[in-house]
Amino acid sequence: MKAIRPQLIRMERAVAAGFLAEQLRENLHEAIFEVVDKIPDGAPFDPRLLEVVEYRGRSLRQCPGTRHYLCCGYRILHIGAQCTLGCTYCILQAYFSQPNLRLFGNTEEMLQGLEAELTSHPLELYRIGTGEFTDSLLLDPHTRLTSRLVPLVAAHTNAVLELKSKTDFVDHLLDLPHGGRVIMAWSLSAPAVRKREESGAASIGERLRAARRCSRAGYKLAFHFDPLIDHPGWQEGYGEVLDRLFEAVDPGSIVWISLGGFRFMPELKAIIQARHPESRIVYGELIRGLDGKMRYFRDIRVELFSFMRERIAKADPNLCVYLCMEGEDIWRDVFGFSPEERGGLAAMLDGAVSDRMGIDPAKS
Ligand code: SF4
Repeated sequence: MKAIRPQLIRMERAVAAGFLAEQLRENLHEAIFEVVDKIPDGAPFDPRLLEVVEYRGRSLRQCPGTRHYLCCGYRILHIGAQCTLGCTYCILQAYFSQPNLRLFGNTEEMLQGLEAELTSHPLELYRIGTGEFTDSLLLDPHTRLTSRLVPLVAAHTNAVLELKSKTDFVDHLLDLPHGGRVIMAWSLSAPAVRKREESGAASIGERLRAARRCSRAGYKLAFHFDPLIDHPGWQEGYGEVLDRLFEAVDPGSIVWISLGGFRFMPELKAIIQARHPESRIVYGELIRGLDGKMRYFRDIRVELFSFMRERIAKADPNLCVYLCMEGEDIWRDVFGFSPEERGGLAAMLDGAVSDRMGIDPAKS
C-alpha cells in the first residue's frame, strides 16, 4: 500500500527538538512544519494533519479490560492516538476527545520509563503492544520509533513487544536486531469485510506478504480476527483467509491468534452512520453487554468463534487461540474450558510466549 505522508505537522515546542521531530523533518521533506506552544484537544478534524505533542500521562499501562470479561494482562505502550486508515468500525472514532492523528514526541522519557520498569521487575514477563490506540506501523517508516524500541526490548529477558498493524510497512524493520523478542501482528478480515469496511488499509494479500517477509527475518507472528463481522457468506470468507494465512506462513511461527466479535460503545453508532453511511455493520443482531457495549447475540458469537477455532486447530492444534473481551461461559461453549480453570488468561498467553518464543523470565 502507499505510504501515509501527513502534509502538515504541528508540534508542541517542548518536543520540537526531540527524536521523533527530527526523524519526521528528515523523512517528510515536503510537509509543512509548525511549532506552537500547546495543541488544544478540540481542534477540528483535518486528515492531512499530524500533531506531535508532549504526553504527560503514564506511557506504559495495563490494557483497559473490564471486570466483566476475562483480561489478558497486556501492557500498552502509549505512543499516540487515532489513525487515518478509516476503518468504518474503528472504536477510536468515539474514544478520544480529539480527532486528529497524534504522536507523543517525548520519546526519550517514554523509553527511559520503559527501561526502568523492565529493569525493576526482572522476573515478571511483560507482554507489551503499541497498537491499541493507533496503528503500530502507520507512521513508523517516517518516525523510526521501532529503531529505538525494538533493540530496547531485545535487550531485556522479561519482555516481548507486539507491533500490530493493518499496513504492510515493514521494509525498515527487516534488519532490526529484534533478538527473537518481537511479534509482528496483523488484524485480518474476510475479503468482503476488508473491501467494504477497511478500504484504506492494506489488502489481505499485502498483509500476508508482509507477515511472510517478517517471518523470514526471524520475527514471530500473531494475527487478530477482531472484529469478526457477521455477514452473508462469512464462513467462506473467514475460511478463505485462514487458508491463505496458513499457506503464507508456517503456523509454528505464530504465537497467538485472537478472536473478537464486533462490539462498540453505543455512541459510536451515530458516528458510523454519519461518517460511513454505506456501512451496514451497526444494523446486525446486537444487544448491550455487561460493559455497556453493543455486541452480537451470544449464539452468533459462539458460532463465529467455534468456526474459527476449529479451522485454526486443523492447521495447528497447539496454536494458542484466545477470545478478546468475553466471559467464562462463552469460553466454555467455544473451547470446552475457561482460562480461569487453568490459571487465567494472562498465564495462558505467558505460556504461549514460553512455548513459541522460548521466553520465560522466571526460568532465565
Ligand atoms: S487500522 Fe485499526 S486503528 Fe486504524 S482505523 Fe482501522 S481499526 Fe482503527
